[in-house]
Amino acid sequence: MLDSVRVRLTLWYTGLLALFLVLLSLVTYSIFWRSTLQRTDSDLAELSEAFLSTVQAEMLDDHGPDAPRRAVQEAIVEHHYRDHVFAVFDSAGRILASSQDLPDEAAPAGLLSSPAIQRVLADSAGADRQFQKIEAGRGGYRAFVRRFPLKGQTYTLVILQSLHAQKEMLEEVQATFAWVIPVAIFLASVGGYFLARKSLAPVVAMSSQAGRISAKNLHERLPIQNAKDELGRLAASFNELLERVDQSFERQRRFMSDASHELRTPAAILRGESEVALSRTERPAEEYRESLAVLHAEAQRLTQIVEDLFTLTRADAGQYPLSPHEFYLDELVADCTHAARSLASAKQITLTCEVPEELPIGADEALLRRMILNLLDNAIKYTAAGGRVAVSCGRSGTEYTLSVTDSGAGIPAELQHRVFERFFRADKARTRSENDGGGAGLGLSIARWIAEAHHGRLILARSDSSGSTFSALLPAPVSVLSTAPSLAR
Ligand code: ADP
Repeated sequence: MLDSVRVRLTLWYTGLLALFLVLLSLVTYSIFWRSTLQRTDSDLAELSEAFLSTVQAEMLDDHGPDAPRRAVQEAIVEHHYRDHVFAVFDSAGRILASSQDLPDEAAPAGLLSSPAIQRVLADSAGADRQFQKIEAGRGGYRAFVRRFPLKGQTYTLVILQSLHAQKEMLEEVQATFAWVIPVAIFLASVGGYFLARKSLAPVVAMSSQAGRISAKNLHERLPIQNAKDELGRLAASFNELLERVDQSFERQRRFMSDASHELRTPAAILRGESEVALSRTERPAEEYRESLAVLHAEAQRLTQIVEDLFTLTRADAGQYPLSPHEFYLDELVADCTHAARSLASAKQITLTCEVPEELPIGADEALLRRMILNLLDNAIKYTAAGGRVAVSCGRSGTEYTLSVTDSGAGIPAELQHRVFERFFRADKARTRSENDGGGAGLGLSIARWIAEAHHGRLILARSDSSGSTFSALLPAPVSVLSTAPSLAR
């Protein structure tokens, strides 16, 4: 049960509310009690003031030896109230006069001569006036002790006020708290549970909807009730995640179907050609050789496609290990151009290479070679016989720019943005029918990945009817390293 966020939220909410209510009631109770006492104390002080004024007034007319007793008795009679007990003690602690002798007295009999009163007198011995509490009777008493001089003697006035009414009121307040707080907590917990349920309902709906989404219905999205609140934003983020997963699934699906489509053709040619070769028992050696040549070419093509696919798969998974070392890019470019020369001369294509300076670089040489050969291979492949292919490489700022320019027919403007897509071929039919070694449309994807793996870029810088230029922009070392001792030339 505690595994449910709803229950946990409700418990937290109820617990905090209960704590808050208990604290609130304690504070209210103590403030109420203190203000009651303060009011009682100020009443008592006022009463003592009035009492002593009456005593002074009585003393003006009476000069006998027992005048203080009579003045005090008069004042007691005059100021006697139901809830108050007056008593005046002489300096020896004996009662001079008290209201207990009067009818309707609120104090229990014997209170004034009890040890409690003696204790009050003793405790306030050093003070002129003092308030004290006496635990006696129902609710106890508040005592105000005040010393005053009369005819050269010091007397002590004690006024007691019963706290019974206040105690009763406080008990009522306590009793009210005792049922109001549990009821409030119960109602709040029920309300809190429904509130938590209502606020979490979209999450529950989202989780069951998310549970229904699988690879088959990845295009489905979670409903968003309010895009601006937290849950709406959570659903939107989840939907964005689904979108990315969906796109990645889609790319994967396309990749698989394109790959199998590309593999199917050479496999079909291999099967067809071998079936033809095997169909007759006796054939001239020349025909067998021709068939074997076709089988060999297709097997090579198949191997190339499989290798390219393997490279891309490993690159996607970030598992293609780079082996960088320092070498000269100008030498590599010259090397690759040399390697492509026979291919170019077979089509009477003029192949030139222009690398005016030494270009030291730290990179994976084999991968860069593969990238340059891919670009050169394409340039020669898509340039008509008698055309021109030029390779150039130089430093511009912090980059090396390696460009391969051809005088081919170019790539249609509307297809240029797709040339780096996997399995993309501008003219599939033509490439396939000429069977001129046209690849599976993976060469540029791999070349771009190689440039990016070296923190560079591969771009189609220009392509029109007069030809195309592909440029690889690779980061150059910060210092000019042409004389770097570590580079053996
Ligand atoms: P492919 O193996 O088919 O050459 P690439 O990925 O190397 O695959 O190239 C993708 C497509 O881009 C090619 O099929 C071709 O249509 C187009 N292309 C690439 N390089 C050139 C170029 N130099 N001139 C014209 N078209 C090109």
